[in-house]
Amino acid sequence: MLSAFAPGRIELLGNHTDYNEGVVLSAAIDLGVTVAGERLADGRISLASAGFEPAEIAPGQPLLRTGTWMDYPLGVVAMLRADGAGVGGFRAEFSSTLPVGSGLSSSAAMEVATAVFLRDLFGLQLPALEIAKLGRRAENDFVGVGCGLLDQVSSVFGRRQHAIFLDCRTETVERIPFPAGVDLLVVQSGVAHALTGGEYDERRAQCFEAARRLGVPALRDVTSAGLSSAPDLPDVVRRRAAHIVGENERVLEAVGFLRAGNIAAFGRLMAASHESSRVNFENSTPELDLLVEIALRQPGVHGARLTGGGFGGAIVAAVDSQVVDGVGNEIVLEYEKRTGIETRITHCRIGDGAVPDA
Ligand code: ADP
Ligand code: MG
Repeated sequence: MLSAFAPGRIELLGNHTDYNEGVVLSAAIDLGVTVAGERLADGRISLASAGFEPAEIAPGQPLLRTGTWMDYPLGVVAMLRADGAGVGGFRAEFSSTLPVGSGLSSSAAMEVATAVFLRDLFGLQLPALEIAKLGRRAENDFVGVGCGLLDQVSSVFGRRQHAIFLDCRTETVERIPFPAGVDLLVVQSGVAHALTGGEYDERRAQCFEAARRLGVPALRDVTSAGLSSAPDLPDVVRRRAAHIVGENERVLEAVGFLRAGNIAAFGRLMAASHESSRVNFENSTPELDLLVEIALRQPGVHGARLTGGGFGGAIVAAVDSQVVDGVGNEIVLEYEKRTGIETRITHCRIGDGAVPDA
């Protein structure tokens, strides 16, 4: 029996910067997917996961998208085989401590856990960054979900008490020390993600439009000074650009604050990020705004912001470890009292990635 673990991740700062070729900060968390299993000499692929329908692929049967959970592990197998890797039959059982569809990227954890498991089971040469890219290809090309590299990079490279910095243009990954004694709270707004709705695509298009008008390949290439001196931008385009440009600058500033152990300054950047989402990018919701407002009022909370795509979903707050559970209860109580919406809170510590010493 062989086993592998890959964690989920939380986006700390750098909202919608990925497709603008910008920079982003995230962290692997101490919740994730574990897979255990062994080779099967007859070439079968046998997959099981608690709470999901088990699946079996006969030897020689082509790997095709099914629209079910097994697409995540099968996608990884399909990509490895497309690259000529010798992946034979195997049995794999998954178990997870990650809530599904809560913005903690259980999908990337599934892919990365599968890739590391198969690497070890079949003795494959798979450098850390290749594992992340393999997971993204599985999700993009097999599952059919467009996503950047951040989720998989965080799940692979994460390290205890470190944030992960990713430059989405150069695909450079760096680990940044994260101050001790600070945990993360993820609070669900209870309003469904609407990324498949038109808003996400509309924001993308507006960002590309802004870059085109500013005469640059991507908003990554614009500074806030450059943006203020640019003439004749329609107000909406200017505000969308201001969010991306601001986020990139906040991420770079945040790296300095984290290196200096200045969690208070880091927290202020989180709050500024949320404010920019609310005003400039308009990807917040009244519920997310309320959660952030409640969170920021609690003693021991350094910062809070929406995390992920927005338009619903969750917030992340950086909170002193010693008070984190009490703060979580307060936020839930007040939010549920004021909205009548039932919420779910996840207390995470920053944890190790699947290849923490890469
Ligand atoms: P997120 O990545 O934000 O959690 P996604 O919709 O991208 O949400 O991925 C969730 C999907 O990943 C689930 O619908 C399921 O298909 C698959 N998945 C996640 N965790 C597991 C698990 N423990 N076992 C089987 N499939 C899982
Ligand atoms: Mg996902």
